[in-house]
Amino acid sequence: MDAKNYFDYLLSLEGRYLLTANQRKDLISYQNGIDGESYFKAFLNNFSQLSYLNDFEFGSNNHVQIDFLVATTNKLVIFEIKHYSDEWYFENDVLKNRYGIEVKSPLLQLQRHQHELQQLLYSCGHHLEIEGYIVFTNPHFIPSSSWPHHNSLILFHELHQLSPILSMKTSQQTLDILNVLTLQSKRHSTYYQKEIITHFDLNMAGLRCPHCRKFHTIKIINKKKFITCSHCHTQTKTEKLILLNLKELLILKRSPFTLKEAIKWCYPVNEHTIRRVCNKYFQSDTNRNQRFYLDGNKSD
Ligand SMILES: [Zn+2]
Repeated sequence: MDAKNYFDYLLSLEGRYLLTANQRKDLISYQNGIDGESYFKAFLNNFSQLSYLNDFEFGSNNHVQIDFLVATTNKLVIFEIKHYSDEWYFENDVLKNRYGIEVKSPLLQLQRHQHELQQLLYSCGHHLEIEGYIVFTNPHFIPSSSWPHHNSLILFHELHQLSPILSMKTSQQTLDILNVLTLQSKRHSTYYQKEIITHFDLNMAGLRCPHCRKFHTIKIINKKKFITCSHCHTQTKTEKLILLNLKELLILKRSPFTLKEAIKWCYPVNEHTIRRVCNKYFQSDTNRNQRFYLDGNKSD
């Protein structure tokens, strides 16, 4: 399973079945990554005169993935985003928290990324200053009392320190270099393969709110075009609710589903509505025991 399929699988499984400790860890780090990057992107977008690359990957043997690469007037700036919460401390070249989670020092990672990017620039015939920062975007991140004073480490309440750098306008020269680098990008994350044992049975059925992702918060009233979640109070088209939940059925089952399975999965929505959504959004076999799937999922 590649990275995207793996996280789609975990997201569909969450709340329907007890995740293992490793699945929980993977899902939390994935969601934290998304939250942190989406926040930093919003922060960057306030500096409208800047051009940047998000999730820039390059290299084959020494594969590098940079969260944000910003082009200012006269230099490139790397930003690595960490959305950790709780208390963390450095021990030699490792960053640790009190729950026993350890990650390689982000300072070392940043140094390596700066070096590899400099090499890539040289190989394209360019030379430009490269600066780098690690930004801790979670306000619930607590640096230990021994936290190092390092210019490259930016905590949530220190984000304003980046304003002078980000207020610089992207120059034509750095923009051209950014465009040259774009041509060198190589996506590796799509080739990431994770071997996992999947689990599926129809007892995992239930309607998930598409917005807050909770269960048991939606009252189905037949023939109503819209439903309202009693937890997040969001109004959703009934059709969209069914579609999301049937997609999860497909992701978890990992093979086409029958109408009978769809009805059990979306209980208590009536058969007529489910059949309509199946026919509108899914492809299907034409044989007697009709089975529904989406492009690319049929033989999964
Ligand atoms: Zn909701």
